[in-house]
Amino acid sequence: MGIVDRYDRPLRSLRISVTDRCNLRCGYCMPEGSYRWLPRPDLLTFEEIGALAEVFAGLGVTKIRLTGGEPLLRVGLVSLVAIIARTAGITDLALTTNGALLSSQAAALCAAGLGRIAVSLDTLDAAKFRELTRTGDLHETVAGIDAACSAGLPLKINTVVIRGFNDGELGDLVERGREWGAEVRFIEFMDVGGATQWSMSDVLAREEILAKVEACLGKARPLPGRGAAPAERFELPDGTRFGVIASTTAPFCGTCDRARVTADGHWFHCLYASQGIDLRAALRDGRSADELAAMIRSGWRQRTDRGAEERLRVAARGPLFPADALRDNPHLEMHTKGG
Ligand code: SAM
Ligand code: SF4
Ligand code: SF4
Repeated sequence: MGIVDRYDRPLRSLRISVTDRCNLRCGYCMPEGSYRWLPRPDLLTFEEIGALAEVFAGLGVTKIRLTGGEPLLRVGLVSLVAIIARTAGITDLALTTNGALLSSQAAALCAAGLGRIAVSLDTLDAAKFRELTRTGDLHETVAGIDAACSAGLPLKINTVVIRGFNDGELGDLVERGREWGAEVRFIEFMDVGGATQWSMSDVLAREEILAKVEACLGKARPLPGRGAAPAERFELPDGTRFGVIASTTAPFCGTCDRARVTADGHWFHCLYASQGIDLRAALRDGRSADELAAMIRSGWRQRTDRGAEERLRVAARGPLFPADALRDNPHLEMHTKGG
């Protein structure tokens, strides 16, 4: 049975973060020297995540995306994929990963019922990749993408566009994506929690992204049928498709049907929200599935979040939270909330 929030937006899509930890340190997400991690005993077990998935599915969620931090760091993730893939009502099970650990896991994830995968890849230059991620190796991510292709997993590439860093590579990325059979989605650099170095001057807006791609690959035709999807999709003259997610300059809060659960069971209604609802406490207090459903139903019905739209109205826009606020409350971090 579906539910809607105060703006009539249904709850259809859930992002579940399975860990707040990461093996990379992308400059737009985790630029600090050290982090305060969620205590391990607080992390939801796979059984708890499975129970929550069932409750959310009963309320109308059909899409689940596993994310993090880096989800492939979570030991035994394949068995969680199998649990969620079996959940009645979930018709779309996806994973977002940096790909570094994917080459050895892609086939098993696919066999366990993962429906599709998005790999984050911001540059095709090995030195720049290392500079951006601080600990990463481009070849590992490329090997992960190759393995996903061999396993037959439908694949997308996510690219955060940063002025002066990778904006000269957008055409090359689309072409490389085409070789992998993957649509590339260019994401505007967002001022989310964790992006403590964010500046509007580093953001390439949707129009600039489009112009860069078109300058290399020709006129892009907009594709209809976006629905509640974050990405606007385009088709190039040779039929190659790509997407642009204009979350910073042209947000799509009006159709947002997405919520997020952190690895320790905090349920956030918006990527920009500063307060979540503690579902772990409810689960560990022994609340029944019906009681959890009532809690979630009531929470969603009160939802008024339009975080990215509100950020548009901030005059001197800078980072959402300073580093010390993030240290005091790690739930505010993108890598904790789940991107
Ligand atoms: N570690 C995995 C990965 O990188 O794909 C999953 C988690 S990551 C937080 C999810 C997505 O958020 C990635 O595609 C990443 O590029 C994106 N992201 C992180 N910080 C961002 C920012 N400041 N602006 C835009 N996208 C961001
Ligand atoms: Fe990069 Fe994803 Fe890790 Fe953030 S969580 S540092 S985007 S790999
Ligand atoms: Fe949804 Fe919040 Fe993102 Fe707007 S800012 S699209 S409400 S998650």
